Amino acid sequence: MSTETGTILGAARAVIDEAIAAARTLTQNGKGIDEHQVHAERVAYAATEVAAAEALAAYARDRRAAGQGDETTDLMAAAFAAEIAAKLAATLDAHEGDFGIPAGVLERTLRASAVRDAIRSAQHESRFRRIGQDVVRARGANNGWIDGDIAEMARESARQFARKDVAPIAERVHRHDEIVPESIITAMRELGYFGMSIPEEYGGQGMGNLAMIVITEELSCASLAAAGSLITRPEILTKALLKGGTEAQKKTWLPPVASGDLMVGISVTEPDTGSDVASVRCRAERGEQGGAPGYFISGAKAWCTFAGRANVLALLARTNPDLKLGAKGLSLFIVPKEPFTGHEFETAQPGGGTLTGKADATPGYRGMHSFTLAFDRWFVPAANLVGEAAGEGKGFYLQMAGFAAGRLQTGGRASGVAQAALEATAVYASERKQFGRPIYEFQLTQYKLGRMATHLAAARQLTYAAARKMDDDESIVLEPSMAKLFACDVAVWVTQEGQLLHGGWGYAEEFAISRYVVDAQVLPIFEGVKPILELKVVARGLLGG
Ligand SMILES: Cc1cc2nc3c(=O)[nH]c(=O)nc-3n(C[C@H](O)[C@H](O)[C@H](O)COP(=O)(O)OP(=O)(O)OC[C@H]3O[C@@H](n4cnc5c(N)ncnc54)[C@H](O)[C@@H]3O)c2cc1C
Repeated sequence: MSTETGTILGAARAVIDEAIAAARTLTQNGKGIDEHQVHAERVAYAATEVAAAEALAAYARDRRAAGQGDETTDLMAAAFAAEIAAKLAATLDAHEGDFGIPAGVLERTLRASAVRDAIRSAQHESRFRRIGQDVVRARGANNGWIDGDIAEMARESARQFARKDVAPIAERVHRHDEIVPESIITAMRELGYFGMSIPEEYGGQGMGNLAMIVITEELSCASLAAAGSLITRPEILTKALLKGGTEAQKKTWLPPVASGDLMVGISVTEPDTGSDVASVRCRAERGEQGGAPGYFISGAKAWCTFAGRANVLALLARTNPDLKLGAKGLSLFIVPKEPFTGHEFETAQPGGGTLTGKADATPGYRGMHSFTLAFDRWFVPAANLVGEAAGEGKGFYLQMAGFAAGRLQTGGRASGVAQAALEATAVYASERKQFGRPIYEFQLTQYKLGRMATHLAAARQLTYAAARKMDDDESIVLEPSMAKLFACDVAVWVTQEGQLLHGGWGYAEEFAISRYVVDAQVLPIFEGVKPILELKVVARGLLGG
């Protein structure tokens, strides 16, 4: 790490640690977050940004240590550290009383003249312009060094597939709101993409989280909805099954999920219940059909992505009708159904249960379709309750374990969409001429491209760091959530900056950047809408102990 970056990050870390410690006291170890929501959100976001800066700096350092040092990466690491440190200093200035940082800490750290000098020089506009020039030279490509042969090979093969097979259909699927073509699903099955995190003993690749993220990124760069997001659903169900399923359930469900014989949908949200998952109302009543014990599912679900094409839905339902039990009354079911490719479907079981689905029209994230569902006495065998009898009342916790893995993957999805926008913008800026020159020759264009690439590099490295950490400890929640939080914001911002650099053509459907913008906007909404992710997951994770 350069001295400049080290100076800045040392100061930022010291301050954010004090801020976290003070916020712990203020919120009584997280119990009182709701009485201090605005402050808790500020601390959570600032801590996430500091973690992102540290991840990028660590990457620049490791790269050098591996003999792959790169000046642009070093410039990015310093510039990003400087940006977030300057932002942290400004936030503290504006809300000093709320942060409760002990006297003298700021003077010794962010306000010390050596730190301020380093911040000013590291984020000087000329530095970002140098990064931007490099981005244009490379046409925005992401060929950065990755620590690990498997991840590098995974990136290359996923990129080849994504460019050759996914990119050519991405625009058509988006503009005509089509379902992802079966040919893509078949090809992804052959590549083993549905079983990346499933252990080999259950028919998966067991390739680890980093390779999985790198593949997700490449697929999402070609199409978020018609490729990158297809592999998030099995991920969520797999993690829930591995954590809470019986051995028989793992053996029954994981191999066909890994092979892609079973497509999966995740059904948690309801029309009137989103963030407050513990209040889910869809009921699962015990009973029997044809002598077989099971549950009758009745109620409405909302926003179930891929529910039409899916063969099974991982569905959270209330097995104990007492609403006062909250999360403890919920169980997770694997609900089989026939696949449908249209925007609406209606299906009935021989025993009389019915299920209807209608896709809600959306500006982006097309290709999988997200459905409102109505279940009426839809029968599910008792063996499909994850964990069987012992799993009753544990559905919420199993679902949350799945979501941690899903969020990690969404860090990869967001980095992929932002990468697509960066590449498209770098190419456009080289080709578009105004005032007699390609627009990339203007200082402001170079500066903007430099900042886009830098924030994307930080999002990517924060996600990779979380993936490595999850390889060591599957139970972590904070790091994947921080990666999702930050990377999704970066995707929204980078796509919008890219759109502006395309001028009016950025608003034309004919240019892919307009798709990247609408696709990116969904990222901070699902798997915990941003304010909830900040308060209930990141702030709680930081302040809760
Ligand atoms: C395209 C798309 C695909 C989706 N796919 C799926 C899927 O496959 N499966 C699935 O189950 N769900 C899915 N979702 C649903 C998604 O996860 C939810 O929309 C999300 O969790 C937020 O829930 P909500 O929409 O009910 O918002 P709400 O919970 O109503 O929240 C709205 C806003 O209210 C505020 N708010 C709420 N509670 C609090 C609080 N305690 N403190 C402070 N502020 C608060 C926040 O500002 C929040 O942003 C999808 C959504 C979309 C748009």
